[in-house]
Order: sequence, then C-alpha cells, then structure tokens
Amino acid sequence: MVEEKIVNGKNYFKCSICGFFYKEEQLAQKCEDFCKAYNGCSLEITKHAVKVD
Ligand SMILES: [Zn+2]
Repeated sequence: MVEEKIVNGKNYFKCSICGFFYKEEQLAQKCEDFCKAYNGCSLEITKHAVKVD
C-alpha cells in the first residue's frame, strides 16, 4: 500500500517496498507494483523520486 505523507503542507506518496517518495500517487503506485513484481526498482520510475526529510 502506498503511504501518504505530508511535509511542509505538501503531499508525498511513498512506495512501501523501496521507500522512495513521489509527488504523484500514480508514480508511487507504479513503483510499488514494479518493486513487488520484480523485487527491485525500475530506473525509469525511480528517476521521478523526490527527497523528503
Ligand atoms: Zn518502489
């Protein structure tokens, strides 16, 4: 399940498998589906990841 996190009033979505954050829930969901299916991340997806403290 993608987790939602609010930092400084902005919403971020986290892939619960690899832990990367995304600004769009759709991307986090994509990442999670990929991580689950292949036991690893897709560079095409993780390049959209954002850093959240
Ligand atoms: Zn992931």
